[in-house]
Amino acid sequence: MDTFETIKAEAEALFPQLVAWRRDFHVHPELGFQEVRTAGVVADHLQRLGLEVSTGIGKTGVVAVIEGDQVAPDAPTVLLRFDMDALPIFEQNDVPYRSQNDGVMHACGHDGHTAIGMGVAQLLTQRRNQLPGRVKLVFQPAEELTSGARAMIKDGVLNDPTPAAAFGLHLWSRLPLNQVIVQAGPLWASAGRYSITVHGRGGHGAMPHETIDATLVASQIVTALQTIVARNVDPTQTAVVTVGTLQSGDAWNIISAKAELTGTIRSFDEQVHQLLVRRITEIANGVCAAHGAQCEVDFAGHVPATVNSAAGAALMQQVAEQIVGVEQVTQIRPMMVGEDMAEFLNRAPGCFVLVGASDPAQPMHSPHHNPTFDFDERTLPTGVALLTSTAVAYLQGGQSI
Ligand SMILES: [Zn+2]
Ligand SMILES: [Zn+2]
Repeated sequence: MDTFETIKAEAEALFPQLVAWRRDFHVHPELGFQEVRTAGVVADHLQRLGLEVSTGIGKTGVVAVIEGDQVAPDAPTVLLRFDMDALPIFEQNDVPYRSQNDGVMHACGHDGHTAIGMGVAQLLTQRRNQLPGRVKLVFQPAEELTSGARAMIKDGVLNDPTPAAAFGLHLWSRLPLNQVIVQAGPLWASAGRYSITVHGRGGHGAMPHETIDATLVASQIVTALQTIVARNVDPTQTAVVTVGTLQSGDAWNIISAKAELTGTIRSFDEQVHQLLVRRITEIANGVCAAHGAQCEVDFAGHVPATVNSAAGAALMQQVAEQIVGVEQVTQIRPMMVGEDMAEFLNRAPGCFVLVGASDPAQPMHSPHHNPTFDFDERTLPTGVALLTSTAVAYLQGGQSI
């Protein structure tokens, strides 16, 4: 019988290969829904393992199913998800594997996730004869656009076979190597984008009485939006309303005709999310109406909160304790970060964990989404061992997730 120690040893032996894969992806980062090269490398690898591969799922997603050698038709399927996209950031690291695609960078660690997925595919394929079920490997595009998971689901990634559970991980540079965060309930928040366009009436900077100043109206909207969390959300609930951009005007002596605001909203509770949407709409329209301006409000890219099932978290906790040691498996307070793994977990309950990725001796202070982000590659085998073992453990008996 397979043991986690064997899986761990095999994952460790893959280390040079994992680093090579990760660095190759890091050198050639691609933005969401443009992961053509990345998807090609993944598909080639899966095909070489003898798997039947589907490409173009959710535009650039790749899917393969590893089926145990003697599997009953009603045997369970477990989904493992790996995201592949990079960010529109100009890399400032001076490393041999620096991005060669200027203005695009793997600044969230998804290069590591894709490499881990290729390693997991290899270890699971090698133990096909011990798998009493199926593992659906999902390489997802456009996580950073919070729309890749939805695109894959729309293209049928959850059909034929339908997974009963889903698992995934995120490398986390704020956490030391070998630590793993596993918790039941909410881990990350629901997230969404909004944009507000204010249409005023432009004019001469010296003749304000003939204009409707879009800059002034937009500024009042920015201030008024702060009242939503302060005065509308139940204080025992959690929410964020952030204005990320405010653009208005063309010249110093012209009163602006048009202003555009964009931002993000975060919460854990669906009712709170609905409240944020309603109040942003009311405030934007109300402030515009008070000044005679026209207003457009749009919401996009909403993902639900990332919530782990009790059974899914219990299974991953057990596995993680064997891979990294009991004292290395911890919990954190939920964060307002958004993650579209939530779309899978909402349909196939399971667990999403954070895996420590910084050198404990040299803690990296550069956070995710920063031009100097990097992670300690020694975390890669841990990720492979964790998800390979989770799939095996789930199929061998932990099905009631
Ligand atoms: Zn990210
Ligand atoms: Zn990420």
